[in-house]
Amino acid sequence: MIHDAPDESTSESTYECLQCGAVITSDENPGKCEECGGDLHNRAMALE
Ligand SMILES: [Zn+2]
Repeated sequence: MIHDAPDESTSESTYECLQCGAVITSDENPGKCEECGGDLHNRAMALE
């Protein structure tokens, strides 16, 4: 069995800013980076 979700997954997701690299954890889509207003990438959605 592949162990792909080691974290204590609640409803929170981690988002990473594509512009400044800030990491934001939120239980809902924050939309824009609170640091620079850049687009956020949901880290839970692995790049395949
Ligand atoms: Zn940012």
